[in-house]
Amino acid sequence: MSRKTIIVPKGQRARAREGSPWIFSNEIRMDQAAKALAPGTVVNVRGEDGRAFGTGYFNPKSLIAVRLLAPECDAVIDAGYFAQRFKRALALRQALYDRPFYRLCHAEGDGLPGLVIDRFGDTMTLQTGTAGMERQLGAIAEALDEVVAPKTIVLRNDAPSRALEGLEPYVRNLKGEGRRIAVEENGARYLADLTEGQKTGWYYDQRDNRVFMAALAKGKTVLDAYSYTGGFGILAAKAGAKEVVCLDSSAPALALAEESARANAVTVKAVKADVFEELERLKAAGERFDLVLADPPPFVKSKKDLEPGAKAYRKLARLAADVTAPGGYLMAASCSHNIAPERFAQECAQGLARAGRAGAIIRQAGAGPDHPVHPMLPESAYLKALVYALD
Ligand code: SAH
Repeated sequence: MSRKTIIVPKGQRARAREGSPWIFSNEIRMDQAAKALAPGTVVNVRGEDGRAFGTGYFNPKSLIAVRLLAPECDAVIDAGYFAQRFKRALALRQALYDRPFYRLCHAEGDGLPGLVIDRFGDTMTLQTGTAGMERQLGAIAEALDEVVAPKTIVLRNDAPSRALEGLEPYVRNLKGEGRRIAVEENGARYLADLTEGQKTGWYYDQRDNRVFMAALAKGKTVLDAYSYTGGFGILAAKAGAKEVVCLDSSAPALALAEESARANAVTVKAVKADVFEELERLKAAGERFDLVLADPPPFVKSKKDLEPGAKAYRKLARLAADVTAPGGYLMAASCSHNIAPERFAQECAQGLARAGRAGAIIRQAGAGPDHPVHPMLPESAYLKALVYALD
C-alpha cells in the first residue's frame, strides 16, 4: 500500500496517546515528505517506536495536522467506512427521536472529524470543515444514499473556519433541489431556509432548552432576543404564552418566524432591531417580560476575543435582567466554545448583580444529545445555557 506514514517522535507528548482524535503540527515530524502531501491526504500515523496511532487525514497547512478516523493503521476509508459510522449515528438518533429531524452527524462526537450533517426528513445539510473531509465528499454522498437515501443534500460549506484549512467558502446542492423546508421539533412546525439561513439553516442544539423554557411560558409575556426564526418564541406561544416578541436584526429570519407562527396557529410580534439598543429602549420605557431569552451569536469568536467577548456577555445579562419582571425567568446562552462554562457563568452572575437582581440558577445545560461530545475534547461542548429564576 502506498499510504504515507506520519511519525510522532519518541518522547513527544501527544494527547492522541490517550485517545484524542487530534494530532497537532508540533507533535509530528514535519519533514519535506510530510510537507509535500496534499491537504486532506489519508495517512497512517505511528510513533517512532512503531506503535500505531491509527488512520487519519493530514493537512500540512493546519495547526491540527492530523484528525484520526480509525484507531488502526491502513484502515480503508471509503463509502463502506462512512456507511458504518452513519448507521451508528442514525441508531442513536432513532433511539432519541420519533421523527427524522436532528443533527445526524456531529463531527468528532460521532467519530467523523470535520463533518456535520443536519437532517430534515429527506433533506440534509452537510458541512465539511476540513480538507480531509472535503476530499471524501464522494464517499460521504454514496454512504448517505445507502443509509438514509436523502432526496436533497445542501452543501453549506461557507463556515469562516474553513479558511484555517485553506478551503474556499461555497454553498451548493450536492443532490436534488430546493432549500426551504419544514422542521418538526418538539411537536411544532418551523420553516427553515437551508441555503440562506445561518449555519446549517436551523439550530437543533437548543431543542431541549426550548422545551424547558416553553414549560414556564403559560400565561406569560416572553421576549425572545436573538430569536432567529423563532425556535424558542414559537414553542412558548404554543405552550400558551400571553404575548411573544421575537427580536432579531435579520429581516429574513423574522419573516420566517412569522410564517412559522402562522403554521402553528399562534402569533408572535416580530421586531427588527439591535438587541443591545432595543433592551436599553425597553428598559427606559419601563417594559418588562416574565420570560426573557438571550441566545446571541458567538461573542468570543477566537481566543483573542475572550476579554471583550466576556464583557459583552456580562452586559447582555445585565440588560436582559433589567427587562425581566420580578419573579420572572431569564435564559442566557453562549455558543462560543472559546469561553469556558465557569467563565460564562461568572460573567452572567456579575451582570445580574449589576442589574441589582438576585435569583437562582434553575438549569445549566448544553446542546441536546444529537450533539455528542468526544470525551477527549470536552471543549467541543460549545453551547452553554443558564436559566435563572429572578426575585
Ligand atoms: N435563538 C435562535 C438562534 C439564535 S442565532 C434559535 O433558537 O434558533 C443568533 C441570531 O442573532 C441570528 O438570528 C442573528 O440574526 C441575530 N443577531 C446577530 N447580531 C444581532 C444583533 N446585534 N441584534 C439582534 N440580533 C442579532
